[in-house]
Amino acid sequence: MRRAIIMGGSYAGLFAARVLNDYAEDVVVVESDRIGEDGLGRRTPQRQQLHAVLSMGHTQMERWFPGITDDLVKGGALLGEGDDVRFYLDGRLKAPVAGARMLGATRPFLESHLRRRVVGLKHVRFVHAEVTDLVVRGGRAVGVMTAAPGDGGRIDETLEADLVVDAMGRSSRLGEWLTRHGWAEAPVDRMRVDLGYATAMFHRGDELGTTVIAHSSPGPASDYQPTLTEPGALAAVEGDQWSVVLAGYADHRPGPDREEFLRRMRRCVAPIRTVADTCSMIGDVKTYRFVESRRRVHSRLSRFPGGLVVVGDALASVNPVYGQGLTLSALTANALAVHLRSAPAWEDPAWRYFRLAEAVVDGAWQLSTAADLAQPHVTGPYPRGYRVQKWVADKLTEASVIDPVVNTAYMSVVNMERPPKALTDPRLLCRAARVLISG
Ligand SMILES: Cc1cc2nc3c(=O)[nH]c(=O)nc-3n(C[C@H](O)[C@H](O)[C@H](O)COP(=O)(O)OP(=O)(O)OC[C@H]3O[C@@H](n4cnc5c(N)ncnc54)[C@H](O)[C@@H]3O)c2cc1C
Repeated sequence: MRRAIIMGGSYAGLFAARVLNDYAEDVVVVESDRIGEDGLGRRTPQRQQLHAVLSMGHTQMERWFPGITDDLVKGGALLGEGDDVRFYLDGRLKAPVAGARMLGATRPFLESHLRRRVVGLKHVRFVHAEVTDLVVRGGRAVGVMTAAPGDGGRIDETLEADLVVDAMGRSSRLGEWLTRHGWAEAPVDRMRVDLGYATAMFHRGDELGTTVIAHSSPGPASDYQPTLTEPGALAAVEGDQWSVVLAGYADHRPGPDREEFLRRMRRCVAPIRTVADTCSMIGDVKTYRFVESRRRVHSRLSRFPGGLVVVGDALASVNPVYGQGLTLSALTANALAVHLRSAPAWEDPAWRYFRLAEAVVDGAWQLSTAADLAQPHVTGPYPRGYRVQKWVADKLTEASVIDPVVNTAYMSVVNMERPPKALTDPRLLCRAARVLISG
């Protein structure tokens, strides 16, 4: 391929660039934000919130950027293994998970390391510009129009390409551009969750020993409501800091008030209470409102321009409490690699890519929306057989608190290493039943 253009140079754009470096002579990443060493971008305020990387996301990071974990740890990130990673449900510490590993690092830190690697790739270059439109000719995307960022859309340059990748995140304008050129926008599935997030940083000493991650969520015992403990998480991150996040739905969304944040932390599980009581807060509480999960389903279209694919949040953006977004971004880039390995004709629509990517999205979507439906303010759509599914899921969740085998299988699905249907394995269900009956 002569040239590939990636619209957006955040997490999904970086993975797509790494993949395309193996296939194109010239990979141009067009990013409108100046994402400095601090990794913060104007268009991506979620970067300030605690970001956890699931096991599958970690595996993909090492696959595409070998040695990145060592680099991150040398730079000050923490790698939690075994007991350093603690998951609580309804206030109870869950059974240990065989081989559990999780990184403690802020999103800007993680992303700046990935960006440095991508900047060093032979075929990749970054352009600081705003993409203002897609160029479509003869039934295929052949390039993009760009403008200097923030100049009101004056067109500076048209960049031609064999392949255009949309990595512009949740607020991608691709649908609008496609409509303008006479193409249909991909149908969108939505689930309104009305989630609030708040993250604050704290000075870190040795108050929690080797703990790297502590995560607490409500479960069946509290009917998934914050009655027994507040939902929240902490991560030991670079710079000797704790990153603490609190989450809540609808009227229970956390606000920016520091004292209120500390009060809520004191209603969380023990590690988060300890940080509230012994560590000082750094800076302000940063809030974020996430109204709905959404995914764009391209395979439902009958026609789509060739030479165009969509990765990361631009394809699907799911409730962040399950920490799937970064892993999905990496996995959609993986799907792109599989598609490219099959030597497709660039001018044809990338149906094979969309089928692969949507299969991955489907797993994440099933898991997160099934869990969201347990919230009383979430009003559907309900899948067929929802009540039975929820009853079984509740029982499995209860068994996962006490039994390491059930919890390891359960967490392999949460960590996106296995698809949700792995939880319907009759041997696993029998074991869960035995665990619950024997107490
Ligand atoms: C509150 C919150 C917490 C989260 N926590 C987690 C977590 O713990 N774990 C996890 O895995 N995921 C988490 N996520 C999800 C994660 O943030 C996203 O999945 C991830 O940012 C997706 O990356 P992306 O590259 O697709 O999109 P984005 O990160 O949104 O980046 C899109 C990029 O495109 C650029 N861009 C947009 N339009 C243009 C244009 N016209 N021209 C040029 N550039 C453009 C933007 O400047 C931006 O840099 C969380 C999300 C939220 C909202």
